[in-house]
Amino acid sequence: MRVAVFGGGYAGLGVARHLEQSLPADVEIHLVDESGIHVVRHLLHRAIRRPEVAQSLSIPLRELLGRTIVDQRRVTDLDVEAGHATMADGSELQFDLGAVCIGAEPAFYGIDGAEDHGAVLHRAGDAARIREGFMPVLDDGGRVVVGGGGLTGVQVAGELATLATEHDASEHVEITILEQADAVPPGLDERMQEAIDEALTSAGIDVRTGTTITSVDADRVGVAEGKHLAYDQFVWAGGIRGPTAVGAHRPRVPATLRLSERVFGAGDAVEVIDENGRSAPAMAHTAIRQAPVVAENIARLVEHRRSDASSFEPRLDRYRDDDLGWTVSIGADAVAAVGPSILTGPAAVGVKTVVGAGYLADIGAVSEAIEHVREAL
Ligand SMILES: Cc1cc2nc3c(=O)[nH]c(=O)nc-3n(C[C@H](O)[C@H](O)[C@H](O)COP(=O)(O)OP(=O)(O)OC[C@H]3O[C@@H](n4cnc5c(N)ncnc54)[C@H](O)[C@@H]3O)c2cc1C
Repeated sequence: MRVAVFGGGYAGLGVARHLEQSLPADVEIHLVDESGIHVVRHLLHRAIRRPEVAQSLSIPLRELLGRTIVDQRRVTDLDVEAGHATMADGSELQFDLGAVCIGAEPAFYGIDGAEDHGAVLHRAGDAARIREGFMPVLDDGGRVVVGGGGLTGVQVAGELATLATEHDASEHVEITILEQADAVPPGLDERMQEAIDEALTSAGIDVRTGTTITSVDADRVGVAEGKHLAYDQFVWAGGIRGPTAVGAHRPRVPATLRLSERVFGAGDAVEVIDENGRSAPAMAHTAIRQAPVVAENIARLVEHRRSDASSFEPRLDRYRDDDLGWTVSIGADAVAAVGPSILTGPAAVGVKTVVGAGYLADIGAVSEAIEHVREAL
């Protein structure tokens, strides 16, 4: 019997690690990932200001897994009903049970020029490209426009503003976030939004909410009111869409995380409706916490199929999206929601560092965890 996990990010790595503990030794665990690398994506923005951390945010999946077969291929089409995957090189993989954890892709919403002119922060090498694009602005002065004030947008803006301060260049570097919602980051608790807005403002970042980008060309961004804003660097952080391999949308899964008879989904690749009927946010910590539910449900189905497959299926475990808090960094500063408290300054930076290091230590990346703490000191 073969269980295939597609994607080795927070969700996929977690699923594979849990399956290694729970599945009988003769069940094959096969993890397909296009990069073969576990990218610590929620910290990628740090590498814009501190390029030396980039290496510790990219860890070969083989170093983090035991008996799992790590298969470096790109899935282009996933038939979740048939249990069949087609890869970019034309090869195929058949599986009995599976988990779709291939994350999301940047969404451009058909905005003319956004994809052509916008730098995105999605893959490991993107932070270096954004830094490189920022260097002339740092040297000669100018404006960076960040399209989208979600977690990625505010954290990228924060790194760029702090980098400008560190180079005594904040006088002639302007960082502007354009966000169509009324507050940044959209969807967060109001008190958290206020604290983030304050941190962005004190970092010298110009936040323009209620501003919809309608077009982007080589040196200016068009906004809905028919006005334009000139830029020297444009970063697009406007949102995510589902992966191409599952039809470019995020298929909705119920609290059991079941996508089809044989496939489960977790993380950004799917939209999870939890036990309380709430849509779980596409975040690292939700992906991490969905992984054991997927692994447990796969283990129950494996056991069922290997014993008496004609009997009723076992009850499946369900995911509940408990709000465990948030941490957002704004360059060298941070904001954290811990229980009912909103922390800012060194306390929030401490929480963000501990959470990041805790995750790395948990997945067995101990030297990377130490590096993460050292970088934050
Ligand atoms: C700059 C930035 C800052 C962020 N900050 C935060 C934060 O502060 N807090 C927070 O909780 N979240 C944050 N997020 C969001 C968080 O990183 C995502 O929600 C999280 O990565 C989702 O995990 P995942 O496992 O679903 O997908 P990913 O982590 O994206 O992993 C997907 C995996 O699938 C592989 N893959 C993709 N497509 C294919 C394919 N076709 N074939 C094979 N393999 C494929 C990839 O190589 C990757 O390993 C941030 C994201 C970014 C970009």
